[in-house]
Amino acid sequence: MLSEFDIIRSFFTRSTPGTVLGVGDDAALIRPAPGMELAISTDMLVSGHHFFEDVDPYKLGHKSLAVNLSDMAAMGARPRWATLSLALPESIVQKDESWLRAFADGFFALAHAHHVDLIGGDTTNGPLNICVTIMGEVPGGKALRRSGARPGDDIWVSGYLGDAALALAYRKKKIMLKPDEVEAAEMEAAMVALEMPVPRVGLGQRLIGLAHSAIDISDGLLADLGHILESSRVAAVVRIDQIRRSATMEKHFSHPLAIECLLAGGDDYELCFTVPSSERTKVELLSREEGIPLTRIGSIEEGEGLAVVDSAGRTVTTEVRGYDHFRV
Ligand code: ADP
Ligand code: MG
Repeated sequence: MLSEFDIIRSFFTRSTPGTVLGVGDDAALIRPAPGMELAISTDMLVSGHHFFEDVDPYKLGHKSLAVNLSDMAAMGARPRWATLSLALPESIVQKDESWLRAFADGFFALAHAHHVDLIGGDTTNGPLNICVTIMGEVPGGKALRRSGARPGDDIWVSGYLGDAALALAYRKKKIMLKPDEVEAAEMEAAMVALEMPVPRVGLGQRLIGLAHSAIDISDGLLADLGHILESSRVAAVVRIDQIRRSATMEKHFSHPLAIECLLAGGDDYELCFTVPSSERTKVELLSREEGIPLTRIGSIEEGEGLAVVDSAGRTVTTEVRGYDHFRV
């Protein structure tokens, strides 16, 4: 059976061109560029809670890093370094090397695409658990915070919301499909949103100096926008009909669960950000340049609370909230 050190050497030691000292010593050494602040964030993925035990390990490697890159995007930071702490059950280590190889390939494919060096971590035996810490650089004093939204800002969202939650509902058999090949193919497309999310890293950096506030949508639009409102001490009105829906979401929108997925579904990893309404054309230009749909879904107002309205301005009452790990 592979030893801890075999695992580290064979699967998780790769070149670290952007690092003073990488894997192999008691600590790694990094040198942030002058004038930059370090942005640091951690996310833990627990088997059975955040992913299915039998998920494709390549996709799991991708997602473990992707959710962390998304936090960098939400701060406007450029991700540079990561650590990876793994608890691995004997069933994975004993079986064969293919699981670890695929997991590492998925992780490093995304890391290399963003020039992120894996500089350390910890490897231990236990129920499958993956903890990544990401470190990035952001120009001093310029990071996008949750606390900067002001009345008069537009609220923007990148990409499509709700597909990941829709795919999860389907996997958990809360949404049944007709035995129809077209529907199955559509659900496969939504499954990509769940298993292989694309963090909006480039977009986040380009929002510096333009957005007043930003957050990544990991727990659902209402919950995450709610965090901006709370931190910024402002209110918001969101137009439900303005929220962009994918073809899959559109098709299933009459299902009672679909609206919940759209407003409160987790795992989207899109950015929600606020920009003064005088800067609309800049956001539209950014959308074209980055090739990412950016949609204006509402506005920030004085006061407190979050109102969801339809196209006629009528309040849409929703029971739905975001994902909370401790809610019963
Ligand atoms: P220590 O005994 O000081 O905790 P370890 O033996 O745990 O050191 O780790 C040896 C080296 O391997 C360290 O540089 C550590 O950061 C790195 N490392 C351990 N696990 C991983 C991993 N899963 N991915 C990347 N680097 C790792
Ligand atoms: Mg250790």
